[in-house]
Amino acid sequence: MTVTISAIVFLIGILALTVLGVRLLRKNPQEAAQMYSEKCILCKHSFNKNDLILREIGDYKLLYFCRSCILKLYADVGLKK
Ligand SMILES: [Zn+2]
Repeated sequence: MTVTISAIVFLIGILALTVLGVRLLRKNPQEAAQMYSEKCILCKHSFNKNDLILREIGDYKLLYFCRSCILKLYADVGLKK
C-alpha cells in the first residue's frame, strides 16, 4: 500500500515539474527574441542577426556590424581619398 502511495506521489511530482517547465518556457518570449539578436561591435546597439553583417576572425571570434556603422566607415574611407 505504501509503495502504491509513493508511486502516485512520484507521478504527481513528475507531472507538476513538467507543467512548471512548460510554463517557464512559454513565459519568456523576450528571451527567445534575444537569442536572435546581437549587438553591433561598433555602436553596441542590438539588432536582429539577419540585419547585421557577420565577420569572423580566426576560428571563433564573431564580429557583427550594423548597416549604419558600415555606411559611416564607407563615408570615412571616401573622405580620405
Ligand atoms: Zn553599429
